Amino acid sequence: MTLTLVEQRTSAARAPGVVATRRVRIAVPSVVILVATSAVVWTGASSLLADHRLGAALAGGWAELAAPLVLALVLALVVCEQRWPAERRPVLARGLVHDACFFVLHLALVIPLMTLLAFGFSRVLDDLVGGSWRSWTGSIPLWALAAATLMAMDAGNWLAHWTEHRVGALWRMHALHHSQEELNVFTSFRAHPLSHFMGFCLATVPVVLVMGARPLTPVLITIYVCLGTLPHANVPWSYGPLGKVVVSPAYHRIHHSSEGALGVNLGIVLTAWDVMSRRARFPRPGDAPCPTGIAGRPLATEQTARGKAHVAVLINQLLEPFAKS
Ligand SMILES: [Zn+2]
Ligand SMILES: [Zn+2]
Repeated sequence: MTLTLVEQRTSAARAPGVVATRRVRIAVPSVVILVATSAVVWTGASSLLADHRLGAALAGGWAELAAPLVLALVLALVVCEQRWPAERRPVLARGLVHDACFFVLHLALVIPLMTLLAFGFSRVLDDLVGGSWRSWTGSIPLWALAAATLMAMDAGNWLAHWTEHRVGALWRMHALHHSQEELNVFTSFRAHPLSHFMGFCLATVPVVLVMGARPLTPVLITIYVCLGTLPHANVPWSYGPLGKVVVSPAYHRIHHSSEGALGVNLGIVLTAWDVMSRRARFPRPGDAPCPTGIAGRPLATEQTARGKAHVAVLINQLLEPFAKS
């Protein structure tokens, strides 16, 4: 299903008054995701503005998602990638620099978007069930709630990830993450901003429901961000026996493989969901690191557009899901 826009341009090379037309076909499902995301973000922003809490909420989002622990981990992994690389590359490999641009975009724009999505969904829940859900966990010990939250978050993210690989419109957004041919720690942040809608539906709502506004919630989210960032690092670590339970860089690299099935090793932190759905492919000791990216290079990447500036390639990648394929 497409909308058809007609772009009209006059050209100096043509006679005055002669109009050239070029049809730009728009992918409607991507527009629907944009509208749905905007609606939830607007719900969150307007509710926070009404309570004069917008500034504090955004500051809280940065404190959770760009916490010093996250930044320190990213920095440490950049060093580890040079010291123990799975694949040796130049210090300023084009893929690393490009994904660092995505990290800057993440810090500047995506974190506020995620924060407002979380508040927006929370407001929608309030409107649906009148806020009664906020007190249902009052008598449960905090440690049990924290464990349940991490499990629910990971199960929800696994389901969102599985959906992204099954539904064409969601894959159009997720493909950008998979198009990296030089996997690195910043690839964790190489994601289309609109790809977060599904994850927030399935992963953040359970967090809000279980933990609510308890002081431990931001800590849990920071820990989860760290655990989800680490597997993208360009290091060969498989974590030994622990790697059967926790997603390691070697395990997640197989998910990014440009060879074989894409729909395996979907786990973010725990491998259990992959094991239960028979989608786990554990790395074997001594195996060479697999090449990453999408076979056939269907998307423009920084490696295929070598002469172009990173910002131009990045903008092109963000617009790509809106063009009818
Ligand atoms: Zn994926
Ligand atoms: Zn990944």
